[in-house]
Amino acid sequence: MTATPAWPPRSSPRLFVDQPLATAGSLRIEGGQAHYLVNVMRLTEGAAVKLFDDISGEYLARVTARGKRDLTLTIECLLRPREAVPDFWLCAAPIKKARFDFLAEKACELGVARFVPVLTDRAVVDKVKPDRLRGTMIEAAEQCERTALPEISALTKLDALLKTWPEGRPLFFADERLHEGSGVSLPQAIALHPGPAGVVIGPEGGFTDAENAAICGHPAAVPVSLGPRILRAETAAIAATAVWMASQGDWVA
Ligand code: SAH
Repeated sequence: MTATPAWPPRSSPRLFVDQPLATAGSLRIEGGQAHYLVNVMRLTEGAAVKLFDDISGEYLARVTARGKRDLTLTIECLLRPREAVPDFWLCAAPIKKARFDFLAEKACELGVARFVPVLTDRAVVDKVKPDRLRGTMIEAAEQCERTALPEISALTKLDALLKTWPEGRPLFFADERLHEGSGVSLPQAIALHPGPAGVVIGPEGGFTDAENAAICGHPAAVPVSLGPRILRAETAAIAATAVWMASQGDWVA
């Protein structure tokens, strides 16, 4: 017996499909995914494809029929059940499109459970396209062998976020102004508040004083510093997520 199964080949295409796969049997693939499999990957009948559904896990499927613009995949077996996802919510003010896409991609790779775009006063961007964010996350998940996707919340006003924040879940508030004084660093704060949590990150221009006061006045809020250097919003979001994952997530092998 070999340690690494020879089948399916590691190079098999891997796709997210938006339907439950446990009982699917076979499924028709059309549109962009079919174009990718037929014209880009040039799959022929019998070729292996890995599929995941963000519900039950990752499956091995085979091409059982192939047209010019569509193909039929037949599921053969479950390869892996859906992974357990660490319970961390990343709440971030939208920033310019390419940077927010980057942030969403990294949030998916790092394994956040929920991604909440948060509308704040100094937002230079006040619209987000959840479908676009989801598409970015799906691509990251396909590439990085994820079997789960983050939940994406609708754009949420900061006061609504605070009003609906679940009792008992610490909300780490990344406040770049803390580094000058008696600030607590994120790792210190996590040690004091272990377990499921979330972080809120401001936009390019930061939070206003009123927003700062509103967050600090919330019982779940824990103001934290991410160090003496001011980070761009996307760097702050990624760094905070990584720091939380390292101790409370699943980095321990
Ligand atoms: N106030 C600055 C920078 C905003 S940085 C300005 O007006 O330009 C964007 C967001 O990243 C901040 O709102 C904060 O949530 C987070 N952030 C950046 N550097 C940080 C640090 N060193 N510590 C804590 N949070 C930080």
